[in-house]
Amino acid sequence: MTASASAPAAPTPLPSPGGPGRIALYYRFTPLADPEAVRLWQRTLAVSLGLTGRIIVSPQGINGTVGGPAEAVKRYVRGTREHPAFRGLEVKWSDGSAADFPRLSVRVRPELVAFGAPERIRVDEHGVVGTGEHLPADQLHALVAERAAEGRPVRFLDGRNSVEAAIGRFEDAVIPAAHTTRDLLEAVDSGSLDHLKDQPVVTYCTGGVRCEVLSALLKDRGFSEVYQLDGGIVRYGEAHGDAGLWHGRLAVFDRRLSLAFTDGAETLGRCVTCGGATSHLANCADPACTTLQVRCPDCVAAHPDHVCPRCLERTPA
Ligand SMILES: [Zn+2]
Ligand SMILES: [Zn+2]
Repeated sequence: MTASASAPAAPTPLPSPGGPGRIALYYRFTPLADPEAVRLWQRTLAVSLGLTGRIIVSPQGINGTVGGPAEAVKRYVRGTREHPAFRGLEVKWSDGSAADFPRLSVRVRPELVAFGAPERIRVDEHGVVGTGEHLPADQLHALVAERAAEGRPVRFLDGRNSVEAAIGRFEDAVIPAAHTTRDLLEAVDSGSLDHLKDQPVVTYCTGGVRCEVLSALLKDRGFSEVYQLDGGIVRYGEAHGDAGLWHGRLAVFDRRLSLAFTDGAETLGRCVTCGGATSHLANCADPACTTLQVRCPDCVAAHPDHVCPRCLERTPA
């Protein structure tokens, strides 16, 4: 069966989108025989509902963040779930709107998450083969207490890049030196995380998608007890806010750049320019560069042409 044969038709457009906006974040690892057909169908569906955001379709499945009027996003999710491959698709909801994304982007990529190694991951209809055990957010504290009592404390491993980790992270987390997701693969392969091999490891990322792959790579390397935080930091924050093991702000991939679960979120970041305490993220001044840096609003205002270290290296003196 090909995806195109089973792709349901797009619903009729809403007459007047309005009301409060919502953002839906979701992923599913499942083999897709015809990603291009899924891309076309997804594009039509999202355009017909006036949504913006980013949807990645791959032979490994689908991963998306879309925003728009609440009713339109709900219809998008219902429409997506009509595809047999995406039945029962789990979605994380947050407040927001189409204005939080610059546009709609629907692309086919070799991987759902750009680790740069599609051949290292096997996906079947149950998801990533050999991935870490999914640990629901409400069971994390019990696991941490249990392992501590056994004298084998849980180690948190951040599955994001180092800028995301600079403004928010789990308690005493190991933060791999990672500019991009590709660097995480390098961190695993280089052996730089091997000191955690025989310890209980809980990987976490924003919504969980990166940990599906990261935890499988760790298990493949022989890590003995690997969990992935189910639903990621988003689900944990909904359950525990800032009263648990999470500290700081959560970086997100839309115009908000980051969010806090409560008004009591700690400021963990340090401005790369002045060293002052801030969790403000700023884009590199090069419009072609997508690198974010932790920079306080004062320094951003004073040096609007500031570029990231990588772009600085490329700039002739
Ligand atoms: Zn500053
Ligand atoms: Zn740059």
